[in-house]
Amino acid sequence: MIRYPLIGISRHRLGIDGKGVTSLVCGAGCPLRCRYCINKKLLAERKPEMISPQELYVRVKRDDLYYRATGGGITFGGGESLLQASFYGPFREICGDAWQINVETSLAVLREQVEIAAESVDEFIVDCKDLDPDVYHRYTGGEESLMEDNLRFLLKRVGPDRIVVRVPLIPDHNTAESREKSIEKLSTMGVTRLDVFSYHIRDHDELYEKKHHDKQEENGE
Ligand code: SF4
Repeated sequence: MIRYPLIGISRHRLGIDGKGVTSLVCGAGCPLRCRYCINKKLLAERKPEMISPQELYVRVKRDDLYYRATGGGITFGGGESLLQASFYGPFREICGDAWQINVETSLAVLREQVEIAAESVDEFIVDCKDLDPDVYHRYTGGEESLMEDNLRFLLKRVGPDRIVVRVPLIPDHNTAESREKSIEKLSTMGVTRLDVFSYHIRDHDELYEKKHHDKQEENGE
């Protein structure tokens, strides 16, 4: 049976990652090594709990009324959520269509994982980092072309209405000008929903995002 490597659940999130009230379900594993990753410490310290779609449903269904009343649901993050692409179909069968299923992803995954997720995910929240290949590689250790190819594919497969692309200003890596170039390129690719924001760094590798809460926060667990 398919299992999800659960790291933590953050409840009652409003307008942060997806429509309405959401529960953020964090999973382990990521192919990238972003310099300011806020999940590094969490992923290194906690051993994932392998849970089934039914077990996850039991844990998050207490907020069913909030999801239904606000058009919200579950947002899978991480780590890289699309490493668990095969989990979302079985989970959808259990939770039904009334809940929104969102994923936060870098799209730095195999095409097959994007294809599988497209079958059952309502909204893709894509953290593109930067579309300059050098900036991207310096910041993540990965290849920008993989993300870009997957994004082009996804735009064709599900359409722009189901995709939000986050475009950060990353201290010591990109500039307002290079971010503007990324935005222009994304627009020519057909992206219509952008979330433009800045990373804020305190101390050394500790990252604070202006608009997004700490994923490590767990409520009611
Ligand atoms: S893609 Fe996200 S989880 Fe992966 S290393 Fe970068 S910031 Fe961390």
